[in-house]
Amino acid sequence: MSTSEPRYRLRLAHLYPDLMNLYGDRGNVIALRRRCVLRGIALEVEELGLGQPFDPERYDLIFIGGGQDREQRRIAADLVERKGAGIRAAVEAGTPALAVCGGYQLFGRSYQPAAGEELPGLGIFPARTVHPGEEAPRCIGNVVAEWEGGTLVGFENHGGRTYLEPGARPLARVVAGFGNNGEDGTEGAVVHHAFGTYLHGSLLPKNPAFADRLIALALQHRYGADVALPPLDDSLEARAHADAAAVALRDARPRRRLPLPGWRR
Ligand code: GLN
Repeated sequence: MSTSEPRYRLRLAHLYPDLMNLYGDRGNVIALRRRCVLRGIALEVEELGLGQPFDPERYDLIFIGGGQDREQRRIAADLVERKGAGIRAAVEAGTPALAVCGGYQLFGRSYQPAAGEELPGLGIFPARTVHPGEEAPRCIGNVVAEWEGGTLVGFENHGGRTYLEPGARPLARVVAGFGNNGEDGTEGAVVHHAFGTYLHGSLLPKNPAFADRLIALALQHRYGADVALPPLDDSLEARAHADAAAVALRDARPRRRLPLPGWRR
């Protein structure tokens, strides 16, 4: 690895890393850093927990992982009241963001957990999520979804069903798995350069094209114009991607489109 001065410097805000980190979501940050370092880009990671404000000028990338209802309830007010205006301003200014599962749900307009009161979200994604209750089947398993002429692969495990509203476009189209709600074939959401997804597992190590998309958007945002990303040897990543896709497709038939009577409010 080169020891020379990095050509570019990016700063990532990792929101609530101790509370929102399911199924190796932290691996997304590790993958981003590694893919930056290999190209002479320094990626500084700042962890923002409860009580810390969010300065929209300071960050080139935003990441939040998944968490169960309990963790979501702990962070929701802090996210909306202390960090919300800053995060919304950053996203509106074009800062790329990746929000996974429980984080994705709270980047939407609202999340109704399995029990208790509805949690207001940031409203970045015009989407609402409802958990039909502990008795309802969860959306669990491997996912493959069409994304920009290729595929995204990952693992999902969520009770909440997300419904996109006008103004949100889906990130991807489900080929195998449930995605946003198991009904309409959508997976995730995109607004400006903010991406929401149900894919854990971690997502970016086995979806290097998506990781590079985030890095390219961050460079563009910080340094303007197009900064070309030299290609990396992704042969291992490609194998991991292909294996995950094959497993998702093999498992797909028995678990797609489970009947879910009576759960929707
Ligand atoms: N608690 C949310 C749900 O079950 C999110 C879970 C997660 O982040 N994996 O819908």
